[in-house]
Amino acid sequence: MRIPLPRCWSIGAAGAGRQNRANDSALRQSAATKESSRRGQNLLKRNSDKGSGATVSMNRGEVAIVGGSAAGLFTAALLARGGRRVRVLEASERLDPEPRTLIVTRRMHDLLGAAGEASVVNEIRRFELFTDGRSAEIPLARPDLIIERARLIRSLAGEAQRAGARIELGRRFLQLEPNGRGVALSVERPDAAREELHSETVVGADGAASRVAHSAGWPGQETVPLLQAIVALPHDYPPNTVRVWFAPADTPYFYWLIPESPERGALGLIAEDSQEARKCLDHFLSKRGFTPLAFQGARIPVYRRWVPVRKQVGGGEVYLVGDAAAQVKVTTVGGIVTGFRGALGVAEAILSGTPSRELRRLRRELALHWLIRKSLHRFQQADYSRMVDLLSAALRRSLSEYTRDEASRILWRIAVRQPRLLLLGLRGLLMKESCPRAG
Ligand SMILES: Cc1cc2nc3c(=O)[nH]c(=O)nc-3n(C[C@H](O)[C@H](O)[C@H](O)COP(=O)(O)OP(=O)(O)OC[C@H]3O[C@@H](n4cnc5c(N)ncnc54)[C@H](O)[C@@H]3O)c2cc1C
Repeated sequence: MRIPLPRCWSIGAAGAGRQNRANDSALRQSAATKESSRRGQNLLKRNSDKGSGATVSMNRGEVAIVGGSAAGLFTAALLARGGRRVRVLEASERLDPEPRTLIVTRRMHDLLGAAGEASVVNEIRRFELFTDGRSAEIPLARPDLIIERARLIRSLAGEAQRAGARIELGRRFLQLEPNGRGVALSVERPDAAREELHSETVVGADGAASRVAHSAGWPGQETVPLLQAIVALPHDYPPNTVRVWFAPADTPYFYWLIPESPERGALGLIAEDSQEARKCLDHFLSKRGFTPLAFQGARIPVYRRWVPVRKQVGGGEVYLVGDAAAQVKVTTVGGIVTGFRGALGVAEAILSGTPSRELRRLRRELALHWLIRKSLHRFQQADYSRMVDLLSAALRRSLSEYTRDEASRILWRIAVRQPRLLLLGLRGLLMKESCPRAG
């Protein structure tokens, strides 16, 4: 069955010049405020009133996307919808990514619409924060979503293919080089044979250790290990509640328990060193009587500063999206929604040939998360205790209206409702302590 695309995906249109402008607007509206969403929807409507709405190839060069995971497949679908020929090169030989339980805000739904629904396994209505014997509860006005990554990727792959993108599995990108007309890519096939491809536009969506980024001359990025254990939940555990523990003696980040169903959850932490992460997690699990059923983990980029997403390489251009461009909220190390926003911005830039507003907004958002992370990274136990104490009922109520993908609104609410909490954050910023280290 064809899954209807949300409006933000419907960026295919007839007429090259006008098409670009219309696409530009259609892309922008999807991820922004209600007002811009309304403006974008009107533009889309006008656009489809003019023609059949069918996707017409702009007859420009093919876009090669390296990496067929969340960010790459979303970019592929957007570009294919926008009339570009798209080829996705994915190293895995089968589209069966390892299961991974993730939590995202409703923003994912705004971006993907029905295509994201297939991956949702649970909804979260409440956060409980713990530190040093204290606790605070934050209800959520709009539930967070627990998603299963393998389902998400399969769903996105279906969307990309239906939009016209070609997904080639078992194609490991090795390197790229400029050539007269664009970029030459060498790719290894499963039988170890090498293939040379040509493209004017390449998108690196190949994750934190991006080979595309390295090959095109971007500096390497810092990463931290994220490790979580799948555990059986106690029978009285509320399945709509995420628990978070701040334990600065173990990690400057936090531990979490995310229920994926009434029976099972993911208990994990972000640390600065892989061995420490495993030791701390084992200790935490046994202290609370959890038995790990499976482990999930990988290294996640640490966002420190904006990674410019485009480079000219010879006669072609190379872009980065998702983890490859460190498009990760460094407060929580969540990269799904921000990776989609990066994909949206890059698709917008490729289709319109102009700088993307979505990327400007994402840059501001990521910078705020970095500021908050710098402060939290210096928090001692007493600071976390004070933070939890300062979460008054009024502040908790107003925080419940915003998501982690709206950092500026959250900070504004804190400034209005509980300025002392902001002062605590500022004190954190001014304290002498190391910032997130390279992992
Ligand atoms: C255990 C765990 C839990 C997480 N929890 C959350 C969470 O709760 N919420 C959240 O928002 N984020 C979470 N994250 C982070 C999130 O999963 C990532 O930010 C996101 O998956 C990044 O997507 P991506 O498409 O940019 O990169 P990736 O998912 O890393 O995909 C990269 C793709 O490129 C392919 N590839 C790599 N090299 C090559 C090559 N040379 N040639 C061809 N293909 C190549 C890979 O096979 C892969 O398919 C978690 C991460 C982990 C590890």
